[in-house]
Amino acid sequence: MANYDYDLFVIGAGSGGVRAARLAALSGAKVMVAEEHRVGGTCVIRGCVPKKLLVYASEVSHQAKIAAEYGWTIPETHFDWPTFIARKDKEIARLSGIYVRNLQNAGAELVHGKAWLTDAHTIEVEGHGTVTAEKVLVATGGRPWSPKELPGVEHAISSNEAFHLETLPKSIVIAGGGYIAIEFAGIFNGLGVETTLVHRGPNLLRGFDDDVRAHVAEEMGRRGIKVLLGNQHTAIEKTATGFISRFKDGHSCESDLVMLALGREPYVEGLGLEAAGVALNEAGAVVVDEYSRTNVPSIWAVGDVTNRINLTPVAIREGQAFAQTEFQDKPTAFDHDLVASAVFSQPPIGSVGLSEADARHKLGGKVDIYLARFKPMKYAFAGAEERCLIKLVVEPGSERILGCHVVGPDAPEIIQMAAVALKMGVTKPQWDSTCAVHPTLAEELVTMREKYVPPSLGQAA
Ligand code: NDP
Repeated sequence: MANYDYDLFVIGAGSGGVRAARLAALSGAKVMVAEEHRVGGTCVIRGCVPKKLLVYASEVSHQAKIAAEYGWTIPETHFDWPTFIARKDKEIARLSGIYVRNLQNAGAELVHGKAWLTDAHTIEVEGHGTVTAEKVLVATGGRPWSPKELPGVEHAISSNEAFHLETLPKSIVIAGGGYIAIEFAGIFNGLGVETTLVHRGPNLLRGFDDDVRAHVAEEMGRRGIKVLLGNQHTAIEKTATGFISRFKDGHSCESDLVMLALGREPYVEGLGLEAAGVALNEAGAVVVDEYSRTNVPSIWAVGDVTNRINLTPVAIREGQAFAQTEFQDKPTAFDHDLVASAVFSQPPIGSVGLSEADARHKLGGKVDIYLARFKPMKYAFAGAEERCLIKLVVEPGSERILGCHVVGPDAPEIIQMAAVALKMGVTKPQWDSTCAVHPTLAEELVTMREKYVPPSLGQAA
């Protein structure tokens, strides 16, 4: 048997790589992890965590607006971007440090530098030479994608830069209708930036339930975001004071900043995957099976670089399943079914299972829908027009709940618990037998008795 320097070499110390490396090392394997940036990956350094801190910062203005209705007199509010960014950077450094310590405490060796494969078992790390490993895990994540052919594309920032702006712009145009565009539109708007969101499609958030998509666009508009649908950039021009976005419909818009959030691509560049013979799909992602095995027997891949479900907890579970299978003699394939997700838009979204459209497609048109829109107590009291939406998609006959969708305060918290029930195969009668928790938004989910008939169908009937 060949002798290798390491049992496992992990390329990328993000969510998936770190979980796999730690578990493997704790199981007694000799593990090396290479990271070219900071330990923690997209989620900790330039994604979920700083994004959520920004969401918290931006929500304060909304609370301040209704505070008077609750009897508060709040002196003039002022947000200081540099103060927040400095505090955010300190927190990210603290969290990154925890990741480093966790790796070291597990016994994994960490090396800073870009790593690439020179063959199926050999890895070169920039500035550190070459090592060999019996098994290699590619966990390099993804990177913002932008259309290179768009004139002036170099003037736009991506989410990476949004976390490090020196000053807060007075106005911004954000392109895209996915998670990142919508979350940042809410963030900038909440921080007092005049925000325009432009999306090529007729509705935001492709893949989500259509009622959710329409509801979120409406509520974002209510909060002051200018949402332009069915439109997109044809050029970005730099001016003496800012930028001009030129759009397909002939209109243009001036702003201090332009941000593109048009999707992310798997980070495979310069990894030597060709040299090792690792197959990629047409999206440039590493092709893997349910055990995260590539076509090369000594190489695995987890997380966004495989472009399965690009969410942090999924990468963690894929990394965990890999380590259990390969180092703990416990073959485990992560089940990608019924993964809940949250969009930290304002208001936020929580969603698990099938949208109504997908359920109708799957079941040949027949589904039962339970839906309610109402003013959440907190905002109704303050005289605000804001509404939330809750929706259940149910299979007729079996009464199994196939999808649960919530837009409104605490939707991401609510959906985590709904996901437990859906994963267990809950039926509507079981769901409804659960006593409500009062007064909450979530209680409405277990008190919807009447099937929903869309107004158009109701008139036709
Ligand atoms: P998404 O894939 O969510 O959205 C990309 C958006 O860009 C879509 O609206 C898409 O439109 C649009 N688009 C793509 N290409 C073009 C183009 N050439 N011209 C104009 N518009 C275009 O990507 P994001 O960058 O927002 O996020 C990447 C991933 O990161 C997400 O899918 C998610 O998995 C993850 N993420 C998760 C978060 C969370 O869990 N809260 C937060 C942030 C990111 P169309 O729909 O028409 O294709």
